[in-house]
Amino acid sequence: MSKFADIRKELHRIPEPGFQEFKTQALLLDYLSSLPQERLEIRTWRTGILARIKGTAGKRRIAYRTDIDGLPIEEETSYEFRSLHPGYMHACGHDMHMSIALGIVTHFVLHPIEDDVIVIFQPAEEGPGGAEPMMRSEEYQAWKPDLILALHIAPEYKVGQLATKPGILFANTSELFIDLKGKGGHAAYPHQANDMIVAASQLVLQLQTIISRNVNPLDSAVITIGRIDGGVRQNVIAERVRLEGTIRTLSEASMDAVKSRIEAILRGIEAGYGCEAAVDYGAIYHQVYNHEDLTAEFMRWMRGEQLDAPPGERMELIECSESMTGEDFGYFLKETPGFMFWLGVDSPYGLHHSKLEPKEEAIDLAISVVTRYITWKSQQG
Ligand SMILES: [Zn+2]
Ligand SMILES: [Zn+2]
Repeated sequence: MSKFADIRKELHRIPEPGFQEFKTQALLLDYLSSLPQERLEIRTWRTGILARIKGTAGKRRIAYRTDIDGLPIEEETSYEFRSLHPGYMHACGHDMHMSIALGIVTHFVLHPIEDDVIVIFQPAEEGPGGAEPMMRSEEYQAWKPDLILALHIAPEYKVGQLATKPGILFANTSELFIDLKGKGGHAAYPHQANDMIVAASQLVLQLQTIISRNVNPLDSAVITIGRIDGGVRQNVIAERVRLEGTIRTLSEASMDAVKSRIEAILRGIEAGYGCEAAVDYGAIYHQVYNHEDLTAEFMRWMRGEQLDAPPGERMELIECSESMTGEDFGYFLKETPGFMFWLGVDSPYGLHHSKLEPKEEAIDLAISVVTRYITWKSQQG
């Protein structure tokens, strides 16, 4: 079994929330310090790490980015190496992404290319969002890449499959928190109160009309309310209700349009139910927009070069369609040309599921394809 699959098991045991990835950072630094150091330069930024593998000519910088945080989910896998942190789990495959990143560092330390390779271990992808602040850091700016790549595990694809497309890959996303405040009272005296359970019920249904009635059917958007919290007990009219959800759109323009419709509907709820409505958009992630030419070139390379790949390291390329998932890697792509792709890991349970079991065989395949592509890309000059 691969060394990187073993490291992934160790990482899987210690999922940590965003900007608290202390044990994770220590484990990664420990591994990096075990490598030959002549070409390797390491910098840390908060709980993140930047590793630079100096090229033989050092003309350009080609980057691979991994996220490093876990999720507040109680693990229910059949693994022997389940999370040691109660209530936390690597349920989005960031343990896989990190072990692949270590494999990439190891490869280029042993087989340097002309260009510098920068491997970025980014904290807090799941929230509050590590990409933007990390990009503003001195450490990142000093090694700002000319080209950047990332991957995300995809439970729905088989091991050996890789999927991507030029242009938009992942949606614009925004969190959505709505607070309604009315007037509580005795359950038997509704005329003396402003019932926020009724207002919230109306609101949830009205929000869905934004998708069905305001968004162009040829465009696409999602509003999901995932949590409602309100009221005190069965015979008291609820004074406060909080709704928590998320918005996803395939363009920045429709994100703006959806938000202004939400605000208009809230003004209607305020007038109709005599209440106060406040909205907070929380964390907002920019779309993941793959560089058109670079991605098309990568896909051509996959179709051609893959035929010469060592047996057992070939991958099947799938041209996928865009999806409503969000990823803060979009911020890197806003500034630096590059792309992201899906890596098949074949699990019946999806991302953010407590039973997600990505197949570790995908780790070595990903290390092979990424290092071969970066090497080829560097030779193109
Ligand atoms: Zn996730
Ligand atoms: Zn993720």
